[in-house]
Amino acid sequence: MDIRTVAVIGAGTMGAGIAQICAQVGWKTLLYDAFPEGLERGMEQINSFWDKGIARGKTTEEQKSEWGTNLHPTDSLNEAVSEADLVIEAVPEIMKLKQDIFQQIDSTAPAHAILGSNTSGLPIGEIAQVTSRPQNVIGMHFFNPVPLMALLELIRHDGTSEETIEAAQNIAEHLGKTSILVRDVPGFATSRLGVVLGNEAIRMLADGVASASDIDTAMRLGYRHPMGPLELTDLVGLDVRRDILNNLAKAFDDSRYLPHPLLNKLVEDGELGKKTGRGIYDWSNGEKNNRDHNI
Ligand code: NAD
Repeated sequence: MDIRTVAVIGAGTMGAGIAQICAQVGWKTLLYDAFPEGLERGMEQINSFWDKGIARGKTTEEQKSEWGTNLHPTDSLNEAVSEADLVIEAVPEIMKLKQDIFQQIDSTAPAHAILGSNTSGLPIGEIAQVTSRPQNVIGMHFFNPVPLMALLELIRHDGTSEETIEAAQNIAEHLGKTSILVRDVPGFATSRLGVVLGNEAIRMLADGVASASDIDTAMRLGYRHPMGPLELTDLVGLDVRRDILNNLAKAFDDSRYLPHPLLNKLVEDGELGKKTGRGIYDWSNGEKNNRDHNI
């Protein structure tokens, strides 16, 4: 399928990154957020990425200007999706919210549009079932930071059509990503392993096994992970990780997946990681510093 126009729903960490790469490959990209400050933050994230690229000599002013003309922030969901060939939803990891959004998208998007969700682990089939075209619905799980991460995890639910899968694989290739195809099981292939590792690392930190930076270094140097599980948790967002763990615990009816109390406490205190300046680490001076955690 020929993609010309894309709608990205939710301009947070992920939505902004997805909109950025779509604009960079020349697609007309409409970026929608329900909150003006969300849209503003998303546009700032994109512009600051491009500006850093210019400062490092990787991007030119001309490229930034050309990409910028492909990008259209909007506060209207209907306007965003009404001409879209591809819609990618990236709102918070709450099933009811995603279902509401998909119902609205379904009522406005063109019949041929591919409807993707960037959910980290919610069942795609449950999202698809609220639409009149579940065959067009597929999980499109990007990774953070989207412009730099090479993987796109595609999730097929029982009713996803072969045409939709093929179109999504072509989209991945066009965006310069390597795609994998995964069945619609909770946590898919990536999130399940990733959050379990992160949650266990938080348990070890709370138990005083080692400092956060030493636990991270253990996995970086001992296992060749590019980033330790605690730093990654701060990068992804503690709220995002907590939501995935709660969803897994519910889906598998297994308390092993429940978020550690320290993770719950930090989220309740609004310490969500790098995006708020404090999480597992203290990032307030722009650098990663160990901090004390009182549980
Ligand atoms: P985020 O909190 O950074 O952004 C969510 C955005 O959605 C915010 O800008 C918010 O204003 C907006 N929003 C809230 N309600 C909305 C609505 N009704 N309509 C439109 N916009 C709305 O979250 P995020 O980290 O970008 O995560 C978004 C999705 O991507 C989640 O499903 C998450 O699990 C998934 N995901 C996150 C990561 C990550 O590393 N953060 C990685 C892969 C997948």
